Amino acid sequence: MCVPIVGSARDRSDHQDQEIQLLARHAVHSVDGRELRECHRTNLSTLWVDSGAHKIPGRDFVQHVHTRINCLPTAVRVSRGARRSTRDVRCRAGCQETETAAHVVQNCHRTHGGRVKRHDAVCRVIAAGLRRGGYREEEEPVVPTREGNRKPDLVCQKDEFVKVIDAQIVSGVGSLNEAHKRKCQYYSRNEDITKLVEKYAVEPRNVEFTSCTISWRGVWSSRSQGDLLLMGLTKNLLSTLTTRVLQGSHTNWSRFNKSTSTIHRSAAEREGVG
Ligand SMILES: [Zn+2]
Repeated sequence: MCVPIVGSARDRSDHQDQEIQLLARHAVHSVDGRELRECHRTNLSTLWVDSGAHKIPGRDFVQHVHTRINCLPTAVRVSRGARRSTRDVRCRAGCQETETAAHVVQNCHRTHGGRVKRHDAVCRVIAAGLRRGGYREEEEPVVPTREGNRKPDLVCQKDEFVKVIDAQIVSGVGSLNEAHKRKCQYYSRNEDITKLVEKYAVEPRNVEFTSCTISWRGVWSSRSQGDLLLMGLTKNLLSTLTTRVLQGSHTNWSRFNKSTSTIHRSAAEREGVG
């Protein structure tokens, strides 16, 4: 079946669109495609694909696609089809987990620094966009509460309204809108609101909490993107976040392969080994 996976929707025939929809339905029921099942909720997750490679350097575009479709050659990935019980598919960095792309990019100790950089880059883009939209923003202000200090990524004020934004690049296994909701609830406890009201001198009803929630494979929480668009951020700007996250995820994979740092597996696991 010959189906173009990139190119503007305007250039495709109805028949090609039907084939693509059929492939998409198959994909979301596969192991690799499952985390893309929420793509249909907002076209923000696919704008960069639809606009084609002409806006993105070729090498980056290919890397974004590899990350998005989960075909990075991890130990688990390359063992498919010929997996033997003796084959070691555990993480090469010494972790207890199997070496999947999700582990390498999102959890492995070798890529911790890369995850921080990816998160900070997302926050910087949002902050710059909000400044252009007339917001005064403060990055990582400390909000003391009885449960300890809270440090949201961004607190933005415009007129008598305050918005608290936290960014998170998450796994796509669970619901992205639920991840967004959990993040909002984390900050929206009454006492936190009171502290913010005192600090920014606004009415409690004018303090709102939201998140920037994207999966590591570039899929957006539709509610998160809806909130950010309402704040005046443009779809073009948010689309640059999609590709920034994909770039950061792929960089984590590259960093993992270049690193030689290893942690020792637990003694319990090594029992019986000479
Ligand atoms: Zn690991």
